[in-house]
Amino acid sequence: MTAQPVTIFDGHNDVLLRLHRRAGGDPVAAFLDGEDAGQLDFVKARKGGFAGGLFAIFVPPVRKKNADGTQAGLTTSDAPAVDLAEAQRVTFAMAALLLRIERESQGRVRICRNVADIEHCFANDTLAAVLHIEGAEAIDTNLDVLNVLHAAGLRSLGPVWSRPNAFGYGVPFRCPSSPDTGPGLTDLGKALVAECNRLRIMIDLSHLNEKGFWDVAALSNAPLIATHSNAHAISPHSRNLTDKQLAAIKESAGMVGVNYAVSFLRPDGKQDKDTPANLIVDHIAYLLDHLGEDGVGLGSDFDGAMIPAELGSAAGLQILVEAMEQRQFGKSLIEKVCFRNWLRVLGRTWQAN
Ligand code: ZN
Repeated sequence: MTAQPVTIFDGHNDVLLRLHRRAGGDPVAAFLDGEDAGQLDFVKARKGGFAGGLFAIFVPPVRKKNADGTQAGLTTSDAPAVDLAEAQRVTFAMAALLLRIERESQGRVRICRNVADIEHCFANDTLAAVLHIEGAEAIDTNLDVLNVLHAAGLRSLGPVWSRPNAFGYGVPFRCPSSPDTGPGLTDLGKALVAECNRLRIMIDLSHLNEKGFWDVAALSNAPLIATHSNAHAISPHSRNLTDKQLAAIKESAGMVGVNYAVSFLRPDGKQDKDTPANLIVDHIAYLLDHLGEDGVGLGSDFDGAMIPAELGSAAGLQILVEAMEQRQFGKSLIEKVCFRNWLRVLGRTWQAN
């Protein structure tokens, strides 16, 4: 065990979704006091060196009922579009959860709007939370809600989750599959990219299909960033990035946050928790070869995916640091992967903030 945990800044978690769906008790207290369930809360974060990250708001699909009243199974391929009112109800509820966590944390959690905020959190042992929306379903066609959310602290946005919406077509989960699964951004999606550039909101490429990826690459003036995706060359999942996409990310001085979801790590794409955590480091090493030392970070997908049992939760994060040390990654490279690259790329993206 490393004596002092290495600071980790993380590109993606779904703890707000877990708390939003949690039955019984106060979800804010459950986060701040910690609980057995789940992969991320304040206590697990402290234990594992998780010092901050992007906290996603995600509007889950409204599940259809079977004829007998049981819930129908749902894959991303048949995930229905979510309407604006429902998306806004859920989005505001999850944003309110994060605002309450900040308010009730007595200085232990802070919503960060720029890199100076994050650095201040690191220096003061405060958990740094950046507000992200995964899928822009809550945003109206005038983009008014985007401006309101920005004023409330939103600093990162994925135009789509893995389903179609007014802004574009997400990539359905398939393995093996190319990420080239359909049309990309709509005209409204292109307007959203331009408005995000204007507001300096980070645009997340992770759930876009390949055409959507190239649409953003052609339009955006910001570094290209996939907050929680892996190398398609190792795991040929539709959610992962091809070498050609990695080359474009490198060219833009952007980055990729490595995702711990076993189905995006494994060559067979299987949902199997007995997946070695070392496979995460295989993806990190591959991405470092293709993106360079400044282009790779972490993007756990905590509370949004099945992760290797060996890692377990945010409390286990330092085993990744140990695995990197065992592969002779030096201290400076480990720090780049663990937090410095995120801070540099977010700084460039948010430069006007
Ligand atoms: Zn995701």
